[in-house]
Amino acid sequence: MAIQSQMLGKLETVFKYMIPFFLHSWPKNCPGTLFLTDSLGQILTCIPLLAEDNKTDPVLQAWQESDLNLHSVVFEAIQTGEIAYLEDDGHSLPVSWAVVPLKERDGRLRATIGLAAPKQALEVDLLAYIRAMEPLILMGYDAYIHQAASQIVMNANRYERSIDLIRGVIEQIDEIVEKGYCSAVKLDQRGLMIPQDRITTERKHKESTQLGEILARFAGKPVEPMVTDGNKVVIYPVICEAKPLIALILHIPPDEPYVFDERDVAFLQTVGDKISFSLVRAIQLDDIHRDAKKKDLLYGLTKKIQASIDVNNVLEEIINSIPMLYPYFTVDLYLSVETNTTLPVKSLLFQAGENEYSNQAYIEGRPVVGTQIKDGRLVTVLAAPLLGKQGIYGVLQLTTNELVNLNEQETEYISILAETAGTAFENAQLYQQSRNLIRELRLINEMAQQLNRSLNLDEILSFVTNMLLNQFDAEYCAILRKTEEGNHLEVLCSSNPTDVGRWVPIEEQPITDMVTEKRAVILANPSVETMPFSLVEFASLMGVPLMQGTDVTGVLLVADSRGHFFSFDDFKLLEIVGQHTSLAITNALLHSEVRRMVITDNLTGLYARKFLNDKVHESLGKDSSGSLILIDIDFFKKVNDTYGHQVGDEILIRVSSLIKQSIRESDIAARWGGEEIAIYLPRVDLEKAAEIAERMRRLVESGTEPAVTISSGVAKWDRATQQNMSVEALFQSADVALYDSKRNGRNQVTTYKS
Ligand code: GH3
Ligand code: MG
Ligand code: MG
Repeated sequence: MAIQSQMLGKLETVFKYMIPFFLHSWPKNCPGTLFLTDSLGQILTCIPLLAEDNKTDPVLQAWQESDLNLHSVVFEAIQTGEIAYLEDDGHSLPVSWAVVPLKERDGRLRATIGLAAPKQALEVDLLAYIRAMEPLILMGYDAYIHQAASQIVMNANRYERSIDLIRGVIEQIDEIVEKGYCSAVKLDQRGLMIPQDRITTERKHKESTQLGEILARFAGKPVEPMVTDGNKVVIYPVICEAKPLIALILHIPPDEPYVFDERDVAFLQTVGDKISFSLVRAIQLDDIHRDAKKKDLLYGLTKKIQASIDVNNVLEEIINSIPMLYPYFTVDLYLSVETNTTLPVKSLLFQAGENEYSNQAYIEGRPVVGTQIKDGRLVTVLAAPLLGKQGIYGVLQLTTNELVNLNEQETEYISILAETAGTAFENAQLYQQSRNLIRELRLINEMAQQLNRSLNLDEILSFVTNMLLNQFDAEYCAILRKTEEGNHLEVLCSSNPTDVGRWVPIEEQPITDMVTEKRAVILANPSVETMPFSLVEFASLMGVPLMQGTDVTGVLLVADSRGHFFSFDDFKLLEIVGQHTSLAITNALLHSEVRRMVITDNLTGLYARKFLNDKVHESLGKDSSGSLILIDIDFFKKVNDTYGHQVGDEILIRVSSLIKQSIRESDIAARWGGEEIAIYLPRVDLEKAAEIAERMRRLVESGTEPAVTISSGVAKWDRATQQNMSVEALFQSADVALYDSKRNGRNQVTTYKS
């Protein structure tokens, strides 16, 4: 039988462990020497056997005195691979020598053990002793591993945390076994390995570790004690009272020449069994600590999240907390809702093959665990929906960089986290929505007030323009109105004042959509470049048509050179602003139209009598002088009778227009009566007024068809002579002069002489 010396981790140590067993059978008071050599015959340890009274061993003494070439007997054993025997009689003390080679299983010599005793002192056969060496060595080894295991257990009790305990254990096992590496992987309650919870003495190679491969191979199967891979891998599950704790694994890389043997297996098993109670205690303690820590973290996180009314804060808390709890996971946050955030948030893309688990978790509203290939490796994915009360806001996706084993508690814990986040997200979002709503209501209220306060178009336009710039913080805004010819929009008001008055053709986009399709537009250029537009280059633009009834009367534009500048909420708000602005502009326009109608005469376009009265009254109060011309068309009844009222009206319009042409901006021509026209000329004296009246007379005489003539009466007032001139008196005077013109043959101008 070859000694399976390979199992002997530390041969010298084992040799020492063997000695008590040897001495037990060695005759008392019998001198002798026991020694151990290495495979080259070098003596490693030498033990004198006469230990009783500490006397010098006579054999050793004889040996030292003799010229015996010890090596010859040792070498004989080494060379032959058999027990060598020698009787040395050439001395005062004849000594017998026996040497046994210790061989590896493959026949290689590892060491020798030699025994020497005085020939005559030996009651038993030296060879019988030397033959017993092999079993003795095994006993020594058993004693050694027992002792080593006890030592490991004693050390293990010193550790409080299971991770330290396990690390201590595997390092000691590694040191004692002296082959390959020792690793430990946590087991779940079903006895499945949890690869992410592992400790190893294996130094990480560049790419993968042998352990990683072993774990991947046994993932999903309850661990059984086994020796595999040609005795290069030994797995032993440590179980305490039916509760799986860890799997201890001994492994030698495939390219190394060693293998494990039964003794290694036994050692691993002994250590595993012996540490189980210490380990269960440490794990329980750990679980308590870990649970407490998790609860603390979850509580802290929940508190922070619930207190937060900012969606961004909520997202940030989630993304930052996960790595603290699960360092072996990478976190991805997928959102189904739009949010402005700088955090690494991804959008859920519902495409085949894309974030399969996240999509499933989102659709089914429950956590999903699965595997996928990442960088050529199979990894574990956990997707938990951000579940709120009103909907699902996205998915929290955790991805490992290898296969892991997630137990139910772990999954549930992450789900709770995601749900907490979902609820908080919902709260924050609802809060933000209500805040936006309040902002909108406030704005609309303020706008309505402002717009109602004014009927002045310019005021309204500048108010709306300023409000748009402030509200949306945009670089450009403008209000455009359809021109009368209908093919263009004219800029009424703009944040760029030089744009005012510019015409934009309706065919130009994005104007066309707004005007012809009567719809609001929001544009965001996907590229970084801006889009050309005749008013302003932009990357983001919103526009709403201004409506009057079902007609588009203009558009409201807001633009910015920054991409994706406007949110959907902004867009909705602009639509509301557009409605109010439309109404305000329409009202202002209607108002000015009504006003125009009040102060002007419908048929002739001249001012109304009341307006002229007011103006004369005003002038009498502020000016120093003024003249009034009163005109009456001669024989107008005849025109009507001859050509009809229609032609009469046309003549009246023509005469009015000729009169308007002959006066200045500051003069006021009004329809006084049926075919009577009054013209007030502020700060104009009588002579000048008569001249103007004469000019009008000639113009009408020659410029009408059928030709008519007019008669005029001109009167003036002067503050110097007439302090208390009244409107009525002035008209009275002009009327008197007009009557004179009529009486004197018509088609003439008469000035009133007081
Ligand atoms: P004269 O002033 O020279 O004495 O003669 P006349 O024919 O113009 O007489 P008068 O001024 O008294 O008559 C005014 C006529 O003008 C009466 C009416 O038929 C006509 N008239 C007044 N307003 C209008 C109008 O809006 N359209 C037309 N077609 N005719 C009008
Ligand atoms: Mg008349
Ligand atoms: Mg007349």
